[in-house]
Amino acid sequence: MFKTLKNTDIKNKRVVLRCDLNVPIKDGFILDDSKIKASLETINYLIDNNCKIIILSHLGKVKTPADKAKNSLEPVYNRLRELLKREIYFSRETRAVNLYMQVENMLPKDVLLLENTRFEDLNGNLESGCDPQLSMYWASLCDVFVMDAFGTSHRKHASTYGISKYVPSCIGFLVEKELIALDKFIINGKRPLTIVMGGAKIEDKISLIEKFLDKCDHLLLTGGIANTFLKVLNINVGASLYSKNPEILEKVKNILLNYREKIMLPLDVVVANTYDKNYIKYKRLNELDADDIIYDCGNKTIERYKSIIEESETIFVNGTMGRYEDLRFANGTKEFLNMLANSNKILVAGGGDSVSAINNFGFKDSFTYLSSGGGATLEYLTTNNLPGLEGIDEDDEVETLDL
Ligand code: ADP
Ligand code: MG
Repeated sequence: MFKTLKNTDIKNKRVVLRCDLNVPIKDGFILDDSKIKASLETINYLIDNNCKIIILSHLGKVKTPADKAKNSLEPVYNRLRELLKREIYFSRETRAVNLYMQVENMLPKDVLLLENTRFEDLNGNLESGCDPQLSMYWASLCDVFVMDAFGTSHRKHASTYGISKYVPSCIGFLVEKELIALDKFIINGKRPLTIVMGGAKIEDKISLIEKFLDKCDHLLLTGGIANTFLKVLNINVGASLYSKNPEILEKVKNILLNYREKIMLPLDVVVANTYDKNYIKYKRLNELDADDIIYDCGNKTIERYKSIIEESETIFVNGTMGRYEDLRFANGTKEFLNMLANSNKILVAGGGDSVSAINNFGFKDSFTYLSSGGGATLEYLTTNNLPGLEGIDEDDEVETLDL
């Protein structure tokens, strides 16, 4: 059991609020603002309680200085302002003396969003590596820490678990709601449970698959994840996205060895190629050329996956069938979601792009529950634990701040 916002004394306090504002952004435009909207209830509650609110969030991955420009939280700041219908502040710094002063000068109900916490990864993985000094610095900005970033609660980062070690902490309304829904629909939900996994975060997702296969009945693979499995099975995937990391390939080999009967792979695909940007072609999997790039799945795959959906009671979707942002390759994702929408099963989805595709293609109302976390849900299904929340419990003991 975790300490909840309603059971925490936050009136008139300085609060650091960790949200998951990691929305899909293309060319500076937010493709789907669900995660921002999902954070509003907690933010508004803190405003109503006269708090000074400092919001932290990550956005994408920041591995090189060039990643900073495309992963700035500025578009999120603009949208958050609109949604809150009030003036809020944005700090381009994640840690600085100026920032300390800015926080000192905040008035009750003021909201300050800091720049992407993962900018700190450029100085030696400080955020993702849960650096104690960085954790303490952020903790020193507040009296109470509210953890509401469900989507990143499967990781121990400085801005999540790190802060919660040093100041009184609780979970926010979104994390509370997610845990209740996932207990109901996924952990204690109806079986058979089928997991549909696609998308592009190949290495993260393959490491998860290894762990959750015992807990599900079927796994339907598409997107970049499927390509790596096809490759290991010696099927030519041309110039498609797949993992070349020997450790990951070894994991896939073992997964196939131990769980082959639970796993289904695509039969047909839609490809682009490396030299002609107008080229687009439907192909069976045995017809691929060396410069073909798989960007979508075909109708035979969807037909095949339909037979498993019909046998299942609960379906969890994480990742898209293809490159849904490009409408030429969105058909597989649309058709698959349409097939699910007509299935009358318990449908749950998690992950920024998965939820964005469901919203944008008009399938929101067919889903039983849309979660803000894909990886977090699967981690929770596997271990019944979320490492990012381990610093928050009912007693909530904290270590002394030592800056
Ligand atoms: P989520 O955000 O729901 O966890 P991911 O980010 O893992 O999902 O997957 C969605 C992303 O995967 C999209 O950006 C989509 O364009 C990309 N994608 C899907 N299929 C492919 C593919 N075959 N090749 C390259 N990218 C793909
Ligand atoms: Mg994504």
